[in-house]
Amino acid sequence: MNRSDKKNRTPLVSSDSPGNRRKQAMVESAQRQHLDDAPNRPSSIPYFVERLVNAAEAPKPRPRIGILCNFIPVEVILAAGADTVRLDCGNSAAALSGEEHLTGDICPLAQATLGLFLREDGIPRTCDAFVIPASCDAKRKLADILAHFGPVFQLALPTDPDSACHADEIVAELKRLAAFVATITGHTLNRAGLLAAIALTARRNDLIRRLQVARTAQPGSLSIRDLFVTVQASLFSPEPLETWIKPAEILLAEVQACVPEPRSLRRRVVLTGSPIIWPNFKPLNILELCGADVVADTICTGTQSCSDPVVLAGTSLDAAYRALAERAAFGLVCPCFCGQTTRLNRIIDLVEKQHADGVVQYALRFCHAFDLENCRIERTLRDRRIPFLNLSTDYNLEDTELLRARTETFLETL
Ligand code: SF4
Ligand code: SF4
Repeated sequence: MNRSDKKNRTPLVSSDSPGNRRKQAMVESAQRQHLDDAPNRPSSIPYFVERLVNAAEAPKPRPRIGILCNFIPVEVILAAGADTVRLDCGNSAAALSGEEHLTGDICPLAQATLGLFLREDGIPRTCDAFVIPASCDAKRKLADILAHFGPVFQLALPTDPDSACHADEIVAELKRLAAFVATITGHTLNRAGLLAAIALTARRNDLIRRLQVARTAQPGSLSIRDLFVTVQASLFSPEPLETWIKPAEILLAEVQACVPEPRSLRRRVVLTGSPIIWPNFKPLNILELCGADVVADTICTGTQSCSDPVVLAGTSLDAAYRALAERAAFGLVCPCFCGQTTRLNRIIDLVEKQHADGVVQYALRFCHAFDLENCRIERTLRDRRIPFLNLSTDYNLEDTELLRARTETFLETL
């Protein structure tokens, strides 16, 4: 597809308005208030909240590439001389602006992401280019629409999860990505740079894994909401990842040393489903306030974004590309790419490993990849006597009480 073809291209009429910006700020501040109201938060958490909320004001020391989705191997972009920022959006007010251009039964995440691009002071306007995977239909179409805002590279990944058949074509695709970024940065990726970028993201992933181990051993030391804030501050901010590492080490030490106050009985649940993105923490708010501890998740914007490591089989450039290809296409449990049993097996493993009482699925409306798996996941879990709750919703807050009532009933049955 030629995205630069301007012939007959319908212009996007901006929906940016001070009123909608105010609404977006109100949505963020309401969620901040939810976080502030929670008891026993680590003293080092405000750094991550500020980093996330003020992402658009971050300085820009080098070219910046906006990415959508968990599938983009950021290491290639970092090594090619640019910083990355994830641009998927969870703001319900941004979804309202996006909806003016993406009408119909479209998932709110895609609408909100477009809404964010429409803001003249939004972080996408600070990006030099965008990298978007050909994952779900919404993301494929967004790649075309977002070409209005700058050069777009659409990363094509195979839908057949057979690494032996497809590793070569993914490596070729990653090299094409490196060449694309080089046209923006003027910097050609080299072996040392790629290995350094892999080592850097491995440090981030290791810290998140250790945070998760510490909080599941001692629920109450770090809430799932603060864990998501910490994870997303490393992905949804363009600040260099190196600057996230030290504060995360301080947070880890604090969580490991925490002796939480005794709490009333809470249920341990595994959370699965569609992306949960700041400031749409509605499902996390409900679970916490209803008395559930999320002890594991398969959410691509939660710990799932960091749980599949890049496994190097050597230190050559080719070995680095191959390890990234394996991880990008075959190591993630997103239903857009992996077989249905892959996510199911991951959920069951997490339930067993974390001694969870049940599984809660967050099903974002019109996110069909997850909907299509719903029935089989529910039946298989019920056959294994693992209680399952499906929370189908969107970004609106109007159904909060209904979802809360369903969650409370579910937790009472555990
Ligand atoms: S659910 Fe899958 S396709 Fe959607 S953002 Fe997450 S990893 Fe990407
Ligand atoms: S994976 Fe689901 S939530 Fe993400 S853009 Fe696609 S349809 Fe929307």
